[in-house]
Amino acid sequence: MSRTVYVNGEYVAEEDAKISIFDRAFLMADGVYEVTSVIDQKICEFDGHMARLHRSLSELKMKPACADDELLAIHRELVERNDLDNGMIYLQITRGSAGDRDFVWPGDDVPSSIVLFTQDKDLVNAPTAKTGLKVISIEDQRWARRDIKTVQLLFPSMAKMEAKAQGKDDAWLTEDGLVNEGTSNNAYIVKDGAIITRHLSNDILHGITRASVLRYAKEAQMKVEERSFSIAEAQGADEAFCTAASAFVTPVVEIDGEAVGDGTPGPVATRLREIYIEESRKAAI
Ligand code: PLP
Repeated sequence: MSRTVYVNGEYVAEEDAKISIFDRAFLMADGVYEVTSVIDQKICEFDGHMARLHRSLSELKMKPACADDELLAIHRELVERNDLDNGMIYLQITRGSAGDRDFVWPGDDVPSSIVLFTQDKDLVNAPTAKTGLKVISIEDQRWARRDIKTVQLLFPSMAKMEAKAQGKDDAWLTEDGLVNEGTSNNAYIVKDGAIITRHLSNDILHGITRASVLRYAKEAQMKVEERSFSIAEAQGADEAFCTAASAFVTPVVEIDGEAVGDGTPGPVATRLREIYIEESRKAAI
């Protein structure tokens, strides 16, 4: 079924959606994005995603395409027009098109481009919540500003393809022997009841799900350590998991061919997933 998508102020059928070949995201990956989950037709963590969107835009000296209340209205309209019960909404803002290719940014007279579309997916009942993910480790070769959510996703996509080629689900990206994050998620281990995940810096994306999950964990009196860990430490952990808007909390059961714990989803990841879904349902707008 054809979706209705949003392009530069208009709702159109996906086959009629058009963006200039000179759009800077097409030519130079000069754009930022957000992915927001939808549970039971409601939008999760909207404020968090908007706050990060503004930060990404501001770091790249890019203009917001429209105000947050307009963006919320567009999210809701797309949910309605596409009968979306569960899934994601993808939002992309680019530096627009100056009608030619140039390394120099266009002036303020050139409007940003904005595109939103829905993705239909039963995130709550994802089979990976029960099976867990098998990951491999790969040296992180992305650029150094991973805190900005740009559409420049070639390396994570290559890493994911390498994992698939090895019959696995995802890759954890490592640097100086330590885990940064997954290709499209934040990475965690659990040891002796403590939840360990890399501290925030420019090395990783500041996950919106990460912030909420750590808050819920602390509220549930779980111990949280924000620090780096190695693949060897992860392989020796009791549990591992990852978080993302499109994955909530998803267990990781194997790293580089070694089972984590007993090789099945652990109780901490399973409990955090339940809490996250319950709280997100309550707070969704
Ligand atoms: N890290 C990377 C590299 C990502 O691409 C993503 C999500 O796309 C995340 C972490 C998780 O971020 P969030 O929880 O905001 O979806």
